[in-house]
Amino acid sequence: MAEQFLTTRRDKFKEFLQGVVTWSRKWSFWPIPIGTACCGIEYMAIVASHFDISRWGAEVVRFSPRQADLMVIAGTITRKMGEVVRRVWEQMAEPKWVIAFGSCASTGNGIYQTYSVLDGVDKVIPVDVYVAGCPPRPEAFLEALEYLQNKIENKKEYFKKLEEEKKIIQVEGKTIIVGGEIIKPSIR
Ligand code: SF4
Repeated sequence: MAEQFLTTRRDKFKEFLQGVVTWSRKWSFWPIPIGTACCGIEYMAIVASHFDISRWGAEVVRFSPRQADLMVIAGTITRKMGEVVRRVWEQMAEPKWVIAFGSCASTGNGIYQTYSVLDGVDKVIPVDVYVAGCPPRPEAFLEALEYLQNKIENKKEYFKKLEEEKKIIQVEGKTIIVGGEIIKPSIR
């Protein structure tokens, strides 16, 4: 009886601890931006006061891969740069996530399709979520953050809702944010 009681308490404690870890991960992304073109400027706007990214706990931008868990690819990635991006990504500790922000990062962008540009950063690293647009709206990036938060929590009903509202589409196993509702900034 006593043993059963102890086992139950231990399981409950493990569950509680897992919940705390998940909650902490969800609310404390430390992004490392790879801003190689105009989307980099868009990303700077997102982390400025107007959009108050702290509401998602993702304002602590790091420029060391060892202190970051979210890579944000914001801009064109050339073949030469692809090797560097891969090396930086490898130096990040697990668990880690990647957002391909904008058409260039996601697909190479039709207008720049040349021999020197990668057809999407997913040719060198795995991407968790793609944000459509050239450039995407800041709100679309915030939706990508919310998507990742719910992915960490594995909230299936949230993904269903997004698909119903046509805010995300799935193409060949890739999740693409196509929304970007205007979210009223907290500071004007
Ligand atoms: S997607 Fe458009 S805005 Fe973004 S880096 Fe490419 S060209 Fe610039």
